[in-house]
Amino acid sequence: MSESLHIVCPHCHTTNRVRADQLASAPDCGQCKQPLFTGKPVDLAEAAFDKHLQRNQIPLLVDFWAPWCGARAARWRVVWCCTLPGT
Ligand SMILES: [Zn+2]
Repeated sequence: MSESLHIVCPHCHTTNRVRADQLASAPDCGQCKQPLFTGKPVDLAEAAFDKHLQRNQIPLLVDFWAPWCGARAARWRVVWCCTLPGT
């Protein structure tokens, strides 16, 4: 029996339970039916960011930026990779 992981939908922010052996087969969200993995960055406000950080059971790659920083921000972006203990 395969382990299940919690994956937060990038579209509706619903937490989905996905079997680990189905992660590579493009699973869809059970709520909004859109793909859980888009291959593109997702803009998140604070509340949605907290949900993704706390409920996802997969590593998150986080790029903090602010629109008021202009072109200079592209050179000084801070990228954080959040992983779970033991991953
Ligand atoms: Zn969804």
